[in-house]
Amino acid sequence: MSSNESTTVRTRFAPSPTGTLHLGNVRTALFAWAYARKHNGKFILRIEDTDQARSSEQSAAGIIRDLKWLGLDYDEGPFFQMQRLERYQRVVRQMLDKGLAYRCYMSEAELDALRDSQKARGEKPRYDGRWRPERGLTPPHGVQPVIRFRNPDTGSVVWDDEVKGRIEIANSELDDLVIARPDGTPTYNFCVVVDDMDMAITHVVRGDGHVGNTPRQINIFQALGYPVPVFAHLPTVLGSDGEKLSKRHGATGLDEYAANGYLPSAVINGLARMGFAHGNDEVFTPEQLVQWFDLSAINPAPARFDQQKFEWIAGEHLKRVPTAQLARAVIPFLPVSAPDEGTLAAACDLYRDRVSTLKALAQSIGYFFTAPLVNTELLVQHLNETNRNAFTSVTQALGALPTWDKSQIGAAIKGVLTQYALKPPQLMMPIRVAVSGGTSTPSVDATLEVLGRTQTLERLRAVA
Ligand code: GLU
Repeated sequence: MSSNESTTVRTRFAPSPTGTLHLGNVRTALFAWAYARKHNGKFILRIEDTDQARSSEQSAAGIIRDLKWLGLDYDEGPFFQMQRLERYQRVVRQMLDKGLAYRCYMSEAELDALRDSQKARGEKPRYDGRWRPERGLTPPHGVQPVIRFRNPDTGSVVWDDEVKGRIEIANSELDDLVIARPDGTPTYNFCVVVDDMDMAITHVVRGDGHVGNTPRQINIFQALGYPVPVFAHLPTVLGSDGEKLSKRHGATGLDEYAANGYLPSAVINGLARMGFAHGNDEVFTPEQLVQWFDLSAINPAPARFDQQKFEWIAGEHLKRVPTAQLARAVIPFLPVSAPDEGTLAAACDLYRDRVSTLKALAQSIGYFFTAPLVNTELLVQHLNETNRNAFTSVTQALGALPTWDKSQIGAAIKGVLTQYALKPPQLMMPIRVAVSGGTSTPSVDATLEVLGRTQTLERLRAVA
């Protein structure tokens, strides 16, 4: 199938809605999406919610919201497995009719006994096929059977994994998989195959925790006469210490990245770098990723998530966003809802090089929109007998400027510094504290220009 160029590429993301999207899952979604987009194919969202005890609608809604936030748009779905139960049951019946599956009446107790005896002999525990129809056992009364797939006995299952290379599993390793439980509900591995078949999936991109399921699924595809998709099993994502990624490594849920104001493009870039590289390009856009992406380029070694590197990438993205877009994106993080547009745009440009998230940007520029609370101790540290007169003079000089621009502001401050024989910080620091509440603003002339004359004078007078 992979060599058939005329087939439209169709990939899917098939999360189980049992929590929030974890960075590892999101990377799976990203690679499946990027591959579909690269080949002008289709990307499908399927919610695997058959584990009713652990699935929730809230989690499914969160997954949909997070994918939307990230910009991983899907062409079809979301499909919910719970809404497809009848379809699975129909396929089970067809398989029974065709002899591809059979009823097994073995009880749990019998299975346990079988496993124990196999283990005692040092064998791998596996179902022994005793209810295969040709064995001729008579079904007991009043027992609801499970349905088992009749796995081939000989030969092996081979696939060329796009990431892991050739994998071969002997059929003698696989027993007859239960595809429906006594109450008729289909099992996980079976639903996945029916879905991938019905959704005409050409490339299955998923975490490598599923490698063990793949030979069983391939056998079912083949029994159903459906072309086997290409598989790409992605290596695990580890924390920077080489341990499995967990809360210990900081935020691991995508929702936290959204809440902290990382740009979606930065998250995509950071996730892609976990396993994908394009030469020495560290910073790239989602469009570039799509252009460059290939499943075969994914590093089969476990990827490491490095928060520090991620911060750096996030900062680089923040530097590059067009101002209007940045200004729009930061508004939800600001303490005011309708900031002056010109001030906002200028403030964003003034601070974008210093931060890596919208939240941090909003915290930095908040003082342009609401007057800061000035800490008295900090103020007396920077404004006292040594510079109070100069501070009053600079306030007056700024008030008398014919036009409010950076160079005039700078010249006015310089003039007062010379007049009072002070060093630049002796005026810059109290001005910073008065207008921003803190001591680290970008250059004072640029900061005051953006803040505007009225606010500047008001804040300088308030502390003088
Ligand atoms: N629902 C599975 C998971 O969340 C994915 C199954 C698949 O991609 O085949 O791990």
